[in-house]
Amino acid sequence: MTNIPTFKLNDGTEIPSFGFGVFQIPADGTTYKAVSDALKLGYRHIDTAVAYFNEQEVGKAIKDSGIPRDQIWVTSKMWLQDYAYEDAKKAIDLSLKKLGLDYIDLYLIHQPYGKVDEAWKAMEEAKKAGKIRSIGVSNMTPKIWNEFVPKFATMPSVNQVQFDPYFQQKELRQIMAKAHVTLEAWGPLGQGSKELFSEPLLNDLAKKYGKDVGQIILRFEHQEGVIVFPKSVHEARIKSNKDIFDFELTSDEMDSIRALDRNGKGMHDPDAPGVEDMLLNALDVHAND
Ligand code: NAD
Repeated sequence: MTNIPTFKLNDGTEIPSFGFGVFQIPADGTTYKAVSDALKLGYRHIDTAVAYFNEQEVGKAIKDSGIPRDQIWVTSKMWLQDYAYEDAKKAIDLSLKKLGLDYIDLYLIHQPYGKVDEAWKAMEEAKKAGKIRSIGVSNMTPKIWNEFVPKFATMPSVNQVQFDPYFQQKELRQIMAKAHVTLEAWGPLGQGSKELFSEPLLNDLAKKYGKDVGQIILRFEHQEGVIVFPKSVHEARIKSNKDIFDFELTSDEMDSIRALDRNGKGMHDPDAPGVEDMLLNALDVHAND
């Protein structure tokens, strides 16, 4: 019933290349409704995180959907206050409990600072124990990647980073391609940036294909081999964002969108000094446990 293609990760698992992100969707019933709508409309991949405080509603929407567990891909992410080995093991079990699942499809190191090696070891063990199917990282720049990943026993399957037509991560993608690591885009729609949505090239292509600008952006990213999970709480957009599998951009059009890359810093610079402290002080993911 869904027409979403899968990508094969470097550990052999098949991930739906398109999903639904729930960053900043409140856990006051809004996440439950949005995920329920997305599943009804054919989405089969949900991207949440401990730090989004909405794993419980994601889990409930999945359970109530009646869709068999093995037909839905669920990603969550460990927050950096839990990276010490024993804390990391507990954090994985707590995510499973909140989601109400026996296993999580993909678990990520959300922010690459501090005891990343200990968190990674706990995740490798949870993968062996069948609690997690695939493991990966997030927000790793080339500099951070080169600092941590050469010491890992297991190559990450994905690196989830900011990606949109203005910010195409060309240097990072070269490094990741060598190890067959798949890029997952956060902010695939530039978090709704007016500038991006007004871009003349994207508007011209939207007219040509009878699509909207969001669909052109997401189609470009899909053809680049990038996994996307745009967020929206509006049913009409949840529906339209997914409607990108009935047309194809030509290779010249792909090249012209590639040329929109600004080769600059993103909206969040993981390499900036003080980011670790800023993030640690920003929230306590166990405040309500
Ligand atoms: P996004 O690029 O998906 O943008 C979402 C915003 O774009 C919406 O709030 C809405 O304002 C707008 N929008 C959605 N559909 C639209 C449409 N069709 N037309 C016009 N505007 C539209 O940004 P995001 O939510 O930050 O990123 C997607 C997902 O990535 C998140 O929900 C989350 O799961 C993940 N994420 C991960 C990290 C990380 O650190 N790993 C950081 C941010 C987001």
